[in-house]
Amino acid sequence: MTRVAIVGAGPSGLAQLRAFQSAKSKGKEIPEIVCYEKQSDWGGLWNYTWRTGLDEHGEPVHCSMYRYLWSNGPKEGLEFADYSFEEHFGKQIASYPPRAVLWDYIKGRVEKAGVRDLIRFNSIVRRITWDEETDLFTVIAHDRKADTESSETFDHVIIATGHFSVPNAPEFPGFDTFNGRILHAHDFRDAREFIDKDLLLIGTSYSAEDIGSQCWKYGARSITVSHRTAPMGFKWPDNWKEVPLLQKVEGNTATFADGNTARVDAIILCTGYQHHFPFLPDDLRLKTANRLATADLWKGVVWVHNPKLFYLGMQDQWYTFNMFDAQAWYVRDIIAGTIHVPDSVEKRLADVTARVEAEDALPDDFAAIAYQGAYVQELIAETDYPSFDIEGSDQAFFEWKKHKKEDIMGFRNHSYRSVMTGSMAPAHHTPWKDALEDSLESYLRD
Ligand SMILES: Cc1cc2nc3c(=O)[nH]c(=O)nc-3n(C[C@H](O)[C@H](O)[C@H](O)COP(=O)(O)OP(=O)(O)OC[C@H]3O[C@@H](n4cnc5c(N)ncnc54)[C@H](O)[C@@H]3O)c2cc1C
Repeated sequence: MTRVAIVGAGPSGLAQLRAFQSAKSKGKEIPEIVCYEKQSDWGGLWNYTWRTGLDEHGEPVHCSMYRYLWSNGPKEGLEFADYSFEEHFGKQIASYPPRAVLWDYIKGRVEKAGVRDLIRFNSIVRRITWDEETDLFTVIAHDRKADTESSETFDHVIIATGHFSVPNAPEFPGFDTFNGRILHAHDFRDAREFIDKDLLLIGTSYSAEDIGSQCWKYGARSITVSHRTAPMGFKWPDNWKEVPLLQKVEGNTATFADGNTARVDAIILCTGYQHHFPFLPDDLRLKTANRLATADLWKGVVWVHNPKLFYLGMQDQWYTFNMFDAQAWYVRDIIAGTIHVPDSVEKRLADVTARVEAEDALPDDFAAIAYQGAYVQELIAETDYPSFDIEGSDQAFFEWKKHKKEDIMGFRNHSYRSVMTGSMAPAHHTPWKDALEDSLESYLRD
């Protein structure tokens, strides 16, 4: 029997498990599956822990999420086409759920599918190798609870380990002697730590925008965001400013490229993450920038140099959960032999080149959203994943961008229509900036 290893039980790995189970429920034969997950529970980044640094087994903590994190895009853009929010919660809910609500939603679908038994929790994959003679992969994993190592062979391997967990952490002159806390966004957990503090954030993507907003919401005294190329340019509150790149810190004084200075209590590096696969040898390891068209993946999922190896969710993401689904259904059908992968490396690479060139020609974020939407559409058109109105989803993202531009601290008060069920999300009972309690119970009450 064909054997498939899935590495990681976050939204991507779970999408793969659901894709196989969906085929099985339709009477199709599916491979034998083993999913390795290094954490003790599923959900990937959405599985929150207070821990930073090393986990209970001495492995690097995977979680980069924090308390009070609310979805940074409308849920209408990420909804599963085979499991709506209404099906899960028994009603339509507001558009920007907190982490706990989304984690519950992710879990609901796979609990219903009954795939938990396929996952080996507390099992970290240490090494994967490929044997040309046998045409098989060997996966070496360490069960941290039992403290035993296993070695098994598989016909296919699917890497779903995410790429927002291992920090890019640059150093600036004076960091060694800074009189305050310096941390990367990966280790940020609770905005209340920074009440009444003057904060310096470095970087201009989601982490800077959202961690700054959290700290502002919970009472930081001031937020300064330092950028390398361009400011984010939103209409920030009065105690928030954007400055050019940090040059040095001396004591608690930060000096920026324009010569201006600021006194700061803490520095948060919102400087991004690395695609990091320490368990893969050179010939199997994806090396890519964080972009929509990744290097070396045919159709964004097949390792061009060995089409028995797949990667899920390695793109930079506007679309998330339903894009992982589109990829998982596609990979499932390649393994089943109903989707054909070109047989030469050159042909597979030509697909990558075309995608990279198309992405490079995109004029703005709106075009980038539509580009990724079209990619999702392209994949689902070839499988039985339920088709949905992707242009409608693009539209929700376009509205979201517009709402952020209008009011960066108020965009989460807006509602959008589900493209899966056609129903409109209700307004949340409390404006985001006043909603300090973010439990599932609090979010779901009318
Ligand atoms: C701070 C932050 C906020 C975000 N907010 C949103 C949001 O609001 N909306 C949204 O849609 N997306 C958001 N995202 C994007 C996020 O990438 C996706 O939602 C999603 O979690 C990606 O799923 P994944 O399964 O690809 O990766 P992950 O969620 O990272 O899961 C990967 C899994 O692989 C496991 N793993 C890693 N290495 C090994 C190994 N060697 N052996 C075994 N298991 C391993 C990990 O433990 C983990 O469970 C956010 C990301 C971050 C960092």
